[in-house]
Amino acid sequence: MTAVVEACIGLGANLGDAQATVGQALACLAADPEISRLRASPLYRSAPWGRQDQPDFINACACFVTGLTPLALLEKLQALELAHGRQRLPGGHWGPRTLDLDLLLYGQQVIDLPQLQVPHRWMHARAFVLVPLADIAPQAGIAGHGTVAELLVGMDTSQVVPIGG
Ligand code: ATP
Ligand code: CA
Ligand code: CA
Repeated sequence: MTAVVEACIGLGANLGDAQATVGQALACLAADPEISRLRASPLYRSAPWGRQDQPDFINACACFVTGLTPLALLEKLQALELAHGRQRLPGGHWGPRTLDLDLLLYGQQVIDLPQLQVPHRWMHARAFVLVPLADIAPQAGIAGHGTVAELLVGMDTSQVVPIGG
């Protein structure tokens, strides 16, 4: 039997019709034969992090069960980014993008490869990740930092606003 784990990802977009893009990415993942039991958070609007000179982001999180290895899952996420017009530009780190899919958690595994660090190295400090993740996995543990719900206590979440509806 293939080992399966629950993985959690963060979705972000701030170019083009960001809300539609995030919705489409969630639909693609939900329809993927290698992904099951997908649970998605509502969508949020958040102020940009790291670089302020860009539009607000639409953010969400999703958790699902998969038998994909961490690197195979990363590859799938990057292919989905490209299919939604993501361009990797020099100096584009933390810059505007049509779609950003970050692998946040892969079960309880800690992964430290050149191309993949899990838990995602900044997730514990980002309200735009923790707020949507708390909607679907408040008790998820971030190795070395505590649970999602614990990390949100005392964090400024005022810049992460639910999208109406
Ligand atoms: P951040 O990772 O701080 O959110 P970013 O999303 O803007 O920044 P990208 O340009 O999308 O960064 O990704 C740069 C590289 O990060 C990718 O090519 C990928 O190999 C690597 N990476 C390392 N860990 C992860 C992870 N957990 N999820 C997604 N990509 C990761
Ligand atoms: Ca990111
Ligand atoms: Ca990314």
